[in-house]
Amino acid sequence: MTTDKSNEIEFGGTLGAVVIITLSHLLMLYLWLAWRFHDGVVFYPEGISDAGAFFVQIRERIVAHATPSWSTFAIYWSFLAAEGLMAALIPGLEIKGLPVPSRGGERLIYRCNAITAWWLTLAGVAALHFTGIFPLQTIYEQFGSFMIAAMITANVIALAVYFGARVTGNAERMSGKILYDFFMGAWLNPRIGTLDLKMWAEVRVSWLTLFLLTTSGAAHQFTAYGALSSPMIFMLVAHFLYANACMKGEECIPTTWDIFHEKWGWMLVFWNLAGVPFVYSFNSMYIASRPPFDPSIQYTAFCFVLLFGAYYVWDTANGQRNRFRMRLNGSYVKRKTFPQLPWTTLENPRHLDTEVGSKLLVDGWWRYARKPHYTADALMALSWGLICGFDHILPYFYVMFFVAMILHRAGRDIARCKKKYGADWDRYGKEVPHLFIPKVF
Ligand code: NDP
Repeated sequence: MTTDKSNEIEFGGTLGAVVIITLSHLLMLYLWLAWRFHDGVVFYPEGISDAGAFFVQIRERIVAHATPSWSTFAIYWSFLAAEGLMAALIPGLEIKGLPVPSRGGERLIYRCNAITAWWLTLAGVAALHFTGIFPLQTIYEQFGSFMIAAMITANVIALAVYFGARVTGNAERMSGKILYDFFMGAWLNPRIGTLDLKMWAEVRVSWLTLFLLTTSGAAHQFTAYGALSSPMIFMLVAHFLYANACMKGEECIPTTWDIFHEKWGWMLVFWNLAGVPFVYSFNSMYIASRPPFDPSIQYTAFCFVLLFGAYYVWDTANGQRNRFRMRLNGSYVKRKTFPQLPWTTLENPRHLDTEVGSKLLVDGWWRYARKPHYTADALMALSWGLICGFDHILPYFYVMFFVAMILHRAGRDIARCKKKYGADWDRYGKEVPHLFIPKVF
């Protein structure tokens, strides 16, 4: 185990970790209750005198409508196991990750077969649905139970990985504060044979579960009303695009911050397995549970233009930066996975050389802002809210949450980069002065 007390304490240390762990659970339960029992609207006790009855009712609703049965766990775990087996066994492109400092600079091999697993999963799920063996709306109907099964599973996995890291001597960059280390993680790259658990959770489990949840909402709407509303189609497209982008560009993910820097602690495990899919699917569930409504064609078209425009910038910005870096480290491979958008690969882009050796891209979208992909991601999040209309605030929860989370993440990343690049980072800041919005911010 490597202990590094000089490491900066983030997220408010132990207290922050306890608060985030607690609030993450409460947030998921709250959103589920709001959706399931309050028409997707913010709810609270009428007054202090009602508080007791209010909490009793919440407890009763969770027990009656969200207690997972063994069959819930069996279905959920079968899904996790199927995705794990496909990740481990299906042949795919092999990509070298970035050098891992704690392994003497070793570069781990990542097998990128998510695109095959994604289409196989979709085909399998369609077969189960259309043969009536497992109608997709079952997930919608038992959303609460699946959510709690995912939360319990995530907590168990996070505990197992934390103690596993300590017992096997794989814990690194530990602060010595137990709860904080549990939250931030102990093990950087836990693997079972060739299966990289962090990639499995991040690429396959979170986004695939999200898409399946949205599909289950669509299946419910279609079964109940005989048609899909335009907002429902919008959410299907939006979540398909997001999940598909992670699968088709999987080879770029080993060089992202979550994989090369963040350890697989409670924060990532819980949010990959439970938080991302169940919180981010709120808009789809909100649309599915209300009588279908179709905004005007102009408004719907505006939402689609915003989604597609933001998606284009997001996908190509991520591609430009990752492929630039992959070319430099010799891991770049031209892929045919759909869709390969124009301007994803830059030829001889302008960049800054730095003393530590890494080069910083200042071309393509990266000439306009230092985090253009975050801005585009936030605009996609906004479009998910806009398609739900303006009746209530909760469909805008995701975009508010995303912006707060990504601002914090940007702050952490900038602090790390300042430390790593020193004066070169200041030079980069002068070359590309704006962080999110060219000429504004
Ligand atoms: P990045 O992939 O942007 O990684 C940041 C790292 O990239 C930096 O630490 C630095 O690492 C390197 N870098 C920064 N600027 C440059 C540059 N100009 N040229 C070359 N390398 C550079 O971070 P994320 O993992 O946060 O984001 C990846 C994507 O995932 C984003 O699109 C984000 O929106 C999305 N995301 C979505 C979330 C969600 O919940 N929906 C959550 C988190 C992320 P180095 O040390 O190598 O220089």
